[in-house]
Amino acid sequence: MKQKAPVQKNEYYNVVFEDLTHEGAGVAKVDGFPIFVPNALPDEKAQIKVTRVKKGFAFGRLIDLKEESRFRTDAPCPIYKQCGGCQLQHINYEGQLLYKQKQVKGVLERIGKLDLSRITVHQTLGMENPWNYRNKAQVPVGEREGGLIAGFYQQRSHEIIDMNECLIQQSENDRVVQAIKEICGKYGIKAYNEERHKGWLRHIMVRYGAVTGEMMVVFITRTNDFPHKAKIVEEITAAFPHVKSIVQNINPKKTNVIFGDETTVIWGEEYIYDTIGGIKFAISARSFYQVNPEQTKVLYDKALEYAELNGEETVIDAYCGIGTISLFLAKQAKKVYGVEIVPEAIEDAKRNAELNGIENAEFEVGEAETVIPKWYKEGITADTLVVDPPRKGCDEALLRTIIEMKPKRVVYVSCNPGTLARDLRVLEDGGYATLEVQPVDMFPHTSHVECVAKLVLKKEAGVL
Ligand code: SAH
Repeated sequence: MKQKAPVQKNEYYNVVFEDLTHEGAGVAKVDGFPIFVPNALPDEKAQIKVTRVKKGFAFGRLIDLKEESRFRTDAPCPIYKQCGGCQLQHINYEGQLLYKQKQVKGVLERIGKLDLSRITVHQTLGMENPWNYRNKAQVPVGEREGGLIAGFYQQRSHEIIDMNECLIQQSENDRVVQAIKEICGKYGIKAYNEERHKGWLRHIMVRYGAVTGEMMVVFITRTNDFPHKAKIVEEITAAFPHVKSIVQNINPKKTNVIFGDETTVIWGEEYIYDTIGGIKFAISARSFYQVNPEQTKVLYDKALEYAELNGEETVIDAYCGIGTISLFLAKQAKKVYGVEIVPEAIEDAKRNAELNGIENAEFEVGEAETVIPKWYKEGITADTLVVDPPRKGCDEALLRTIIEMKPKRVVYVSCNPGTLARDLRVLEDGGYATLEVQPVDMFPHTSHVECVAKLVLKKEAGVL
């Protein structure tokens, strides 16, 4: 029998919000039926209008806020609602950190069926100043009244909104993007037009080494020419002497994907450098590098603490990217093996090891779920195994190998609490006990949360 929803489209309801979705919408219930309402916070009372009714839930709009949460604040960014890049600016920072911790707890219980009376989920580690943290700006370019604009796509469209300042961006990145718009505009540079597949400049990307102050500018263009190259380069480098590298990436395709396959350095160095925790990293236009270096240090320090190294251990770092965690751990371990699927990232990892004089780290290209079982067969096992998978979590074959290999400790770094919870369940069933989970706020004002979990073999921890 089809059950009728207890709410109807276009009707008004008085509700109390109970929860926050991971996208930052408030959740209220009418007769147990959940309604998702953007811009509403837990504990708030409001009148809402239901805008859409689906099978097991509905969407609504805030009409009259009758009682405000103590965490509510005015979003400082004037384009917060149009942009969609941040989801939580209407919540003060204390509230954001609290909700992120609550979200992690909720997911570990609901999806992972974990017993939180025995696992400590710590308070979210936040930033002292949670603004201007992003070290990379990547903006689409368009034209308006003959001039260039660059900013972001309006939510659910490909209309470019011009932006001069992004509050979570390093202000130096904003300044350089602003100047490039003006310089290119002056020389009559044509922005790429998506619909007609005409024009030249598609995106501008700027990267900033937060510690070194070095900058890289990347022009992503449709064709491989570069009108007024010498003049444009001269103006940028004269205005911004810390720009060490100017790169052109050519993307001739009609696609939403930002980068094309061809990358050439048009001025200066191929790399800029940055350091995290005293380790130096070379960053090229296409390398993956964490966007919040300050919190990356916090995250890696936690991973290092959970790894409990005393210099004698063999460590495996699965999903190692450019070797960041591997090199961070190498100084305290006997040997580190890193595995990563992107060949260029492994080349970077090897270069970074050399750059830092680290000789006890080895890297291999491949799927973690293929390479680690192969290592295991060859007799390579780990005392501590670190995983830092993408959003979809660890492959089952990898989890099976971990359970067979039985490293004493597993440190799980995760950017998605849902898949973390799912994988922790598998490891728990396979003989591991999760001891602690530490949420880290890598992306303040957005709904993302990063976590590090510490697991040990149950028999070592005395947990049955
Ligand atoms: N630990 C790194 C990178 C984490 S991001 C850091 O902190 O910087 C996750 C990484 O997993 C990405 O570099 C991605 O390319 C890689 N990856 C995705 N699927 C993989 C797989 N099946 N096997 C190995 N690496 C994979």
